[in-house]
Amino acid sequence: MRRKFIAGNWKLNNNRRQTTDLIEKITAQSRDAKNVDVCVAPVFTSLQSAREAIGSSPIILAAQNVFYEEKGAFTGEIAPSMLVDAGCSAVIIGHSERRQYFGETNETVNKKILASLKVGLTAVVCVGETLEERETGKTNDVIHAQLSGAFKDVPSLEKIIVAYEPVWAIGTGRNATSQQAQDVHAFIRDLARKKYGKGAEELRVIYGGSVKSSNAADLLARPDVDGALVGGASLIAEEFCAIIRLSS
Ligand code: PEP
Repeated sequence: MRRKFIAGNWKLNNNRRQTTDLIEKITAQSRDAKNVDVCVAPVFTSLQSAREAIGSSPIILAAQNVFYEEKGAFTGEIAPSMLVDAGCSAVIIGHSERRQYFGETNETVNKKILASLKVGLTAVVCVGETLEERETGKTNDVIHAQLSGAFKDVPSLEKIIVAYEPVWAIGTGRNATSQQAQDVHAFIRDLARKKYGKGAEELRVIYGGSVKSSNAADLLARPDVDGALVGGASLIAEEFCAIIRLSS
């Protein structure tokens, strides 16, 4: 039985005080949740405040991005070991907004995964098709290409979580149906099985794209949906914690 993983991607929101406030609310409201991993991903400058606010609670701290080199002349970048130093144990890699606006490719995603695994971070690897790709029947091909690129030279699925996030469902209020999500999640697990064998059964494949408390139960009930990557709704403690409770 795979333990559910519910992550809040806060994107470009929340200064340090807002981060602390939101984490305090999430901690208080998710105290009774069992058998679920809860993760939050604030902006870089709020990571340390987030770490302090999390304290001894089991909330997992993630960054929203990372660079693949450890040091050097790479102005504006953050190394994997620096995320560990700031108290992170996970990192989101390859979010569609990074692919769309910041030139992230399957190759850079792969380098970031390898560098993150090296320092013990859990990599939450995002994949997903655009609306045009879905409508022209290319969803599986796109996911296949993204995952083959991402997993090049990755020795095992330990410390890997895959987030299936159809681009057309992110921030649009239009979520995939639970059947659409299940179909792609099963396809992802199948690809993982071909490359990693039994390890694929432990792999958590989480869904992202306009998840909220009103649609989460249906999505989370599907056999291959092992949690959610939540954007907008994760900024509201009550909403996020309602999704956590549905998973526990
Ligand atoms: C996301 O940012 O990963 C996301 C899924 O956003 P939203 O829930 O707002 O669609």
